[in-house]
Amino acid sequence: MSVSNGRQFLSIPGPTTVPDAVLSAMHRPAVDIRKGELVDITNRLKEDLKMITRSSGTPFIYIANGHGAWEAALTNVLSRGDKVLVLESGSFAVGWGDAGNMLGLNIEVLPGTYHEAVDPALLEARLRADTKGEIKAVLVVQVDTASSVMNDISALRRAIDNAGHGALFMVDTIASLGTMDYRMDDWGVDVTVAACQKGLMMSPGVSFVVAGDKALECHKSANLRTAYWDWTARQASEHYRSYAGTPPVHHLFGLQKSFDMIRSEGLEAIFERHRLLAGATRAAVSKWSEAGELSFNIPAPEQRANSVTTVLLRNGDLIPAIHDYCLEKCGLVIGLGIAVLSGKALRIAHMGHLNAPMMLGTLGTLEMSFRALGVPHGEGGVQAAIGFLADNVPH
Ligand SMILES: *Cc1c(COP(=O)(O)O)cnc(C)c1O
Repeated sequence: MSVSNGRQFLSIPGPTTVPDAVLSAMHRPAVDIRKGELVDITNRLKEDLKMITRSSGTPFIYIANGHGAWEAALTNVLSRGDKVLVLESGSFAVGWGDAGNMLGLNIEVLPGTYHEAVDPALLEARLRADTKGEIKAVLVVQVDTASSVMNDISALRRAIDNAGHGALFMVDTIASLGTMDYRMDDWGVDVTVAACQKGLMMSPGVSFVVAGDKALECHKSANLRTAYWDWTARQASEHYRSYAGTPPVHHLFGLQKSFDMIRSEGLEAIFERHRLLAGATRAAVSKWSEAGELSFNIPAPEQRANSVTTVLLRNGDLIPAIHDYCLEKCGLVIGLGIAVLSGKALRIAHMGHLNAPMMLGTLGTLEMSFRALGVPHGEGGVQAAIGFLADNVPH
């Protein structure tokens, strides 16, 4: 017995659903890579990146997933042996730091938990203690996709300023860009890292780095630079050089369409839609949690991300059954806990190309799996999600 049919519905925190309009935009022959339309698309995409990061900085486009952009960011501004402070709030900033470790950086992790945002006071204290200015960069994620915590980037910037410290401030926005407010210039971020397959609604394979002035200055003396990631080489006038080789032609067609969609919906409307669909998810999870089996991984409501919700299960043995039931019986791909939450959590993504029927369908399918499998849960989670949306979306 199965009620699965048609396409798999992705409720994982990346890759996310690619809109049909974006898929269609890629269904065409390739064009000249030297001049004409593709060069215009590259130039427009760079403007789109500045728009969505609210930055006047310099964007770079990489044929790589987010892990590639991490490496691009580090190698362009740092030198072998430099000390780098990683702010832990889940697994992603730490993963970025691990990449730096293999590059020969001296990584120090400011320990955090998987259950709360980075405390700006701890950052300030650590930087104040660095009286010799040994720390060259601070790495953090805006949203950690493992824990589903949201860090307060502007508060972390203030902590760096309060300490009077000159470290570069480098932020991974892969799980947040296009789902919530981000202000690279206003918040004094020196390097922003992003990727195309989450809030930006594209199929995976392209990622981005936006460099501020201070980062471009550090670039001049960085000795970790390599041919492929190098910003100087990529700033040459020839279009081909800005990709260090052949451009990702069809990805560029797709990205152009996804940014058309982002511009026509408008950033504020997109952020509001994410706030509402995340709110519906949290309403359901709150209800489900009443039976004591399920709970929010992030206890403080104001620290919960609008792009993904990590839900803990007391009995981790239930998780594979829930996952498989959703997938095999219903065609829903639900996210699993990763890193220290592997085998302990489910993740419900609510980022990118998503509307109320998709969200309510995901929540309804999950609740259906709880019932079918006998997972203890408070009744009426979906009803609560509907109530939240009806109350917040007036006619
Ligand atoms: C998904 C994600 C990454 C990794 O991106 P890949 O494209 O899988 O390499 C890095 N950081 C954050 C915050 C993410 O959500």
